[in-house]
Amino acid sequence: MGDERVEAMEIDGQQRQEVAAAVPDGFNADYLRIYYGKLFPYGDFFKWLSYGNDAKHPGCDQSYIGRRELSFTLENDIYLRFQSFDSAAELETSIKEKCPFKIDIGPVYSVDPAKRHAYAQSGNNVFVPVERELIFDIDISDYDDVRYCCSGADTCLDCWPLMTIVIKILDTSLRGDFGFNHILWVYSGRRGVHCWVCDSRARKLSNEQRSAIADYFRVYKGGENSLKKVPLTGPVLHPFLARSYTDVLKCFFEDKLLHSQQLFASEERCQKILELIPDENVASELHDKWQGNRRSSISKEDVNATRWEQLKTTLQSGKYKTQGLRRCVEEIVFSYTYPRLDMEVSKHMNHLLKAPFCIHPKTGRVCVPIDPNNCEDFDPTAVPTLSQLLGELNAAGMHIDSENDWERTSLEKHIRFFRTSFLQPMLKACKEELETAYSAKLQQSKNTLSW
Ligand SMILES: [Zn+2]
Repeated sequence: MGDERVEAMEIDGQQRQEVAAAVPDGFNADYLRIYYGKLFPYGDFFKWLSYGNDAKHPGCDQSYIGRRELSFTLENDIYLRFQSFDSAAELETSIKEKCPFKIDIGPVYSVDPAKRHAYAQSGNNVFVPVERELIFDIDISDYDDVRYCCSGADTCLDCWPLMTIVIKILDTSLRGDFGFNHILWVYSGRRGVHCWVCDSRARKLSNEQRSAIADYFRVYKGGENSLKKVPLTGPVLHPFLARSYTDVLKCFFEDKLLHSQQLFASEERCQKILELIPDENVASELHDKWQGNRRSSISKEDVNATRWEQLKTTLQSGKYKTQGLRRCVEEIVFSYTYPRLDMEVSKHMNHLLKAPFCIHPKTGRVCVPIDPNNCEDFDPTAVPTLSQLLGELNAAGMHIDSENDWERTSLEKHIRFFRTSFLQPMLKACKEELETAYSAKLQQSKNTLSW
């Protein structure tokens, strides 16, 4: 690339920034109204939740989408549950009118949730959830004991790799071990990620089956008082855990977190790791060694790597015979890296979860999808904000064709990704399933008739 073009790009980038700065940072009803008026992808959103039932095919369940609960949180925390919609237009009108600060998605019920009282009065107590995506909710504030750069709802590029690990581990296993194909990962807008498993097989899981899947992923048993958070028992690791360790956890721990979190950089941090070692003699040998090299010439950059190598060598030397010492290296890595799921969210069908393409009120960032195949590249600090998008809209000027305003903003690549990588392949599968089920039904009724 010639110097001239670089310079032109820089000017262009600078100009775009200046225009974006014309809309002050923030989150408010006025901003949100423009977002819902011009940018929110109603069509794609509705198509997703319809799962092919909005088509003309005679096998479609026309009542399907109308039995899905959406819930809106309005300004001043007014909470509207059990909203339901029969068409994309109805959904769009309602969102534009109510301007929800947050939209949550609930399950598909046996009957239209908005009419649940009428059904209750008729004496038919049939209002129960019947379908729901298998969901996972991961919150980085659950990692506060293993990250030193941020705490609570804050996150930065030093601790975000903990979320990258979650996506890599769960996505691989949900596809490889469970055979799911239609998985949507979404940035929660501030402190974590959401996962929506949308295969029809996943949507039809019972609460018991959901619990079983959530338990499959449960290794971390945290708690302030339990010293050893990850007891890896048995002679060999479960294949899923072994694979997670060698393919993801070990590299992230050694190449990233060890340094970015400075895991061995202070007496206190070292002590925390030593507490995970079940043999006091080993722990004190290491402790003495580290006291020694604190005074030696090891530079600050090297201290984490050096101490980690010393720990591994000591534990794996075979010098100490305490049971479980070899496994201890793995346990430490698991303690510091393995995904920590909010189990309750995954176990019950009727849990609400924030919808993709909402805006997070605190950060102003859009809850955009994350590509699991390139999740290392996802940068939460680069996700478009509400004010940035409005600035881009301003810069692009008003157009008569307001249908595709998003194409002129940095929301474009996110909507395109949602469409091409998630929505289209999923709808194709829905259509095939629908046709198969329909022809089976026809065949069955034919058989019944001829019998
Ligand atoms: Zn951080």
